[in-house]
Formats: sequence, C-alpha cells, structure tokens
Amino acid sequence: MNTDKHNLINRLFPNPLPTPEELEKRYPRRNLPEKAMVTRVAPSPTGSVHFGSIYASLISERLAHQSDGLFILRIEDTDKKREIAGTADLFAATLERYNIIADEGPDKSGHEIGEYGPYKQSERAAIYHSYIKHLLESDKAYPCFATPEELEELRARQEAMGERSGYYGHFALWREKSVADAISALDQGLKPVIRLKSPGNFQTKIMVDDLLIGRREMPENDQDIIIMKADGLPTYHFAHAVDDYLMRTTHVIRGNEWFPSLPLHLQLFAVLGWTPPAYAHLAPIQKMEDGKKRKLSKRKDPEANIEYYRQAGYLEEAIIEYLLNLANSNFEDWRRANPVADYREFILTLKKLANSNGPLFDLAKLNDISKDIISRLDAKTVAERALAWAKEYDEELYELMNKDRDYTEAIFNIERSGVPKPRKDIGRFEEVRQEISYFFDDLFTLSDEDLRSAIADLNGAEPKALVADFMAIYDEKDGPEEWFEKFKEAAAKHGFAKSPNEYKSDPEKHRGQAGTAAKLLRILLTGRTQTPNLCYVMKVMGKERVKRRLERI
Ligand code: GLU
Repeated sequence: MNTDKHNLINRLFPNPLPTPEELEKRYPRRNLPEKAMVTRVAPSPTGSVHFGSIYASLISERLAHQSDGLFILRIEDTDKKREIAGTADLFAATLERYNIIADEGPDKSGHEIGEYGPYKQSERAAIYHSYIKHLLESDKAYPCFATPEELEELRARQEAMGERSGYYGHFALWREKSVADAISALDQGLKPVIRLKSPGNFQTKIMVDDLLIGRREMPENDQDIIIMKADGLPTYHFAHAVDDYLMRTTHVIRGNEWFPSLPLHLQLFAVLGWTPPAYAHLAPIQKMEDGKKRKLSKRKDPEANIEYYRQAGYLEEAIIEYLLNLANSNFEDWRRANPVADYREFILTLKKLANSNGPLFDLAKLNDISKDIISRLDAKTVAERALAWAKEYDEELYELMNKDRDYTEAIFNIERSGVPKPRKDIGRFEEVRQEISYFFDDLFTLSDEDLRSAIADLNGAEPKALVADFMAIYDEKDGPEEWFEKFKEAAAKHGFAKSPNEYKSDPEKHRGQAGTAAKLLRILLTGRTQTPNLCYVMKVMGKERVKRRLERI
C-alpha cells in the first residue's frame, strides 16, 4: 500500500482498532454440537413491537433450543434517525413476558449477558471499523464524497438514459477516483461515506438458496452500496454480515422483505472471506380484508402491535400457542393429542413452516385458544392473572377483586374445578368485568325495565310471595339438582309447571314453566338474563348478599 493511501485510511480511522485477527480470537467458533442452530432476532428499536416480530422470535428461539443451540437478541440501532428511545428495552421486556428466552443479549433493563457482545450495534463501531479499514486497504471499498445534489443528478441522468438506477459500474461517481481526490475532499472538511466496491455483474445470474423460499435465480449484486454512513455507523447490510459472522449465527431467520437483498448479503460475506449463514425468509402474517389477503400492518391494524394483546388481557401462553399454530399447521393435531404437554415438547420444523408460509391471522381463533387455556387453569391462577391484568388496566375492578380475594377466587371457581366441561367464558381479561361485575355490589345494576319484564313473564303470579316461598326452603348446601327441585316446588305453588312436558300437556292450566319463573330470581340477583347456574351464584354470593338483593322486589 502506498503512503498516500495509508495516510488517507489513517485520516478516516485515526483511532486504534482491533485487527480482524484479534476479533477472530475474541469471538471464537462456538463449541456446540454439530446440528445445533444459532439463531437471532435483530430488531431495530423504532417503536412498538410488531406481532410478526414475536412470531419470528418464537420460531428462531424454538429452532435454536430444540437443536441444543442458542438464541440471541441483538439490537440493530444504527439508524439513529429512526430510533425511538426505550424501544430496545421494550423488545427485551416483550420477549421476557412471552418467555421467549434469549441466551445472549440485553435484558429489559439493558444489562447484557453473553460472551459475543456488545449486542447493541451502536456499541460495536470499532468492530465494524476494523473490517471497513481492512476492506479499504485491500481495495474492496472506497470513500465516496458525492453530495445529495450529485446523487440526485445521477438519478435524473439514469432515468433520462433509460438506465437502471443506483450507484454501480461507471455510474459509481467515486469508484475510480484517486487517493489524491479523496484527500483533497477531506481537506475541504467533507465527510465521506464508505462504499463497497462491488465485484458483481448484474448480467450474471446466481443461484441463491433459502430454507423457506427454496432455490432461486437472481442477478448478482453490482451496487456499490454504502457500508458505513457519514456518521461512522454501518448500514444494516454490512452490520448484519459482521455480526452474524462474529456471533457465529448459523441460521438467519428474518422477514422476506430482506430476500431481494440476499445476493448483496452473500456478496458481502464473500468479499469478507466468510461462509454465510443459512437464510430462511419468513412471509409476513396476513389478514383478510374485503375478501383479499394483505399484510398485517402496524399502521392500519391495532392487533399488529403486541401491546394490543397485553391491554386486552390475552394470556401470553395463548399467543404462543396461536403463533405455533400459524407456524406449523400440525401443531393443532399435536396439541389435541397432548393437551397438557409443554409446547416446548412440540418439534417445530422449517419444512412445515415453508408450507404455511404467509399464514392467515384470525383473532377469533386466538380467542378460542385463549378460552381453552383459561378454562383449564384453576381458580386461584385465573384470579391471580385477572388481578395482575386489572391492576394495570382496570383499577376499579382491581380494587374490588383484591378487597376479598377468597370471594374473587370463589367467583372464578364457579363451574370450573372438578367439572368435566369447565366454563369457557373468558377469552381475555378485559372480558372479566362483563362476566363477573354483578358479584360486586359496587358494580351491580338492575334496571327497572328488566325487572318489569321479568315480573311480566310471571304471568300474574305474585313475585314477592314466589321469592319468599323459595327462600323459605332454600339451603346453601344444596347442589344444583336439589336447588332446582326446590325452586320448582316453590314455582308450582304459584301455578308453574315443573317441566316443559307438564306444561305442554296442559298449557291452559299453568302460568308457564318453572324455568321461566327462575328468570325473576336471576334478574334480581344478577341483573342479567344469562349467568352460570344460579345455585352456584347464590352459594358464592352468600346468604346476606342474596337477601339484600331480593329485597328489591
Ligand atoms: N433490523 C432488521 C429489521 O428490523 C433485522 C433483519 C434481520 O433479522 O436480519 O428488520
């Protein structure tokens, strides 16, 4: 290398840097079993966490851990203009909440674990600079001082000539400039970007392999892309190559918006002299709109933001189950055969993933899964989780539920433990208020209109006497059958048939059926026409509360 070039590179990188050889030593090959996959999720902290990012994270984590490999969280924060403070921590916190455990990377308070860090790209500048310097020395990269105006002029010129746009071949303004030109630009105080000197030819077709998309023919990259911006930070393309190499990633699983960049990425690995990882590009989760499929969009769909599920109070486990369903269609059968097994026992495969690539999102299905899971939890757990949710999102309900935890648990225990078909009434915790509010005096409401209508259904029977006759024989200890027998007895006294058949055999003789008369009791106690079995409701409410409510009549 001649002295001028040496000077130029030293002016671009005046500070001491590790050498590629030193980096090689600092980040040695990992000592893992041969089949072990090292995967990573590499979010850019640009705002909320997309549902699809958790999908990709779960897939990456599962594939890593089921192969005795490692899953890494890396924060790609080199685009300072787009960064939104705090969102790197938000991503880590979200992974933790969903129990998608990264073996390496920052946790929700930014504390890093792992020997292959730093795991925030903005803290890895010296590492990138080391390789960029090396590429400059070996003539595989060069500084470019083109101004925005010059680039705009280039674009216009290409358009006028009917040429492909971009910075390539003879259009690459600084590719052939001399070291002296670069030094003089530096002397003028200009700040360059560093570009790759692409060895590719656009006419040459290469075969690229993707574990999900398959083998495709694509043109070779010939763009002299920016690898380091004027602020000294690398671009995504370059940084991902360096990081995935040094972190010893074996499989890059990422959104298929990156698939068109694959020829470039493979070229970067080749220029750096490294074997690339395997790539798997995921098609985005889609939703139906007006009979057409489209990408789940952060801008249009509130459910694209993972916070949506937290606010609504979906169980994290339900989201995981649902995502596994979307990823591998055979998960559902597996779950049916193994209803209580840990989902980690299911073996996720790329093969099945390739079949369900671009899965269709369905909130109703998620809700059903969530209902199923909640129905299998014991009352104590449901109460705890409902309380945790309400503490954040429904303070009033929280206070009421928390005041008497035994009462709250008893409410959730209605038709739950020990019954063959537990109630499936709650799909997400935001539904809890609607489901149980009437148990709390502060939330209980009974409209005159509803009461009038229940009385009207009695068909002339005396409501107060009916209620009094039932309460005279009611016993808290009775099970649902005895309860109903007693109610029928009371109702019969007031002219109601004890069964639908009895009623049908002689409608004229009866005011109606006992079941209809029970509506009055239900309305008085709950303000609703539909509730769990009244026998249980009354038992949980307790005699005093029941009495108080019945006084309304
Ligand atoms: N930071 C990139 C993104 O947010 C990561 C892509 C990748 O996984 O390599 O899409």
